[in-house]
Amino acid sequence: MTYDPNNIFAKILRKDIPAKIVYEDDYCLAFPDINPKSPIHILVIPKGSYTDLYHFSAEASPQEIEGFFRGLAKVAKQFGLSETGFRSIANTGKDGGQEVPHFHVHLLGGRTQSPF
Ligand code: AMP
Repeated sequence: MTYDPNNIFAKILRKDIPAKIVYEDDYCLAFPDINPKSPIHILVIPKGSYTDLYHFSAEASPQEIEGFFRGLAKVAKQFGLSETGFRSIANTGKDGGQEVPHFHVHLLGGRTQSPF
């Protein structure tokens, strides 16, 4: 899939549209999901232009991959999820039900998630 630079998360990254940013570093940005499915529902996105988990895993540099997941861990700790546990979801492409074509990981916590 070709990366669409006008997707909503690209606009949030460029600060073209507002989001309540809860964490930011050189590699990632995190903000609450606008339609939360759990008491804690944070989206973590890389700063690079990757459409989905497959694209990111296949083509991001080692520094980008490490930076993204280190950032994700900091967000998990910031929200107490490292203690309680959480569900992480990365919907990928059409069959994965992905709506926004910029790679993102959903972090869901604040309650026990229903059986998967
Ligand atoms: P996915 O189906 O994995 O692509 O999930 C996209 C998520 O982005 C959905 O859970 C939406 O609620 C969320 N979302 C869409 N627009 C925004 C926005 N402007 N700020 C925060 N979350 C958003």
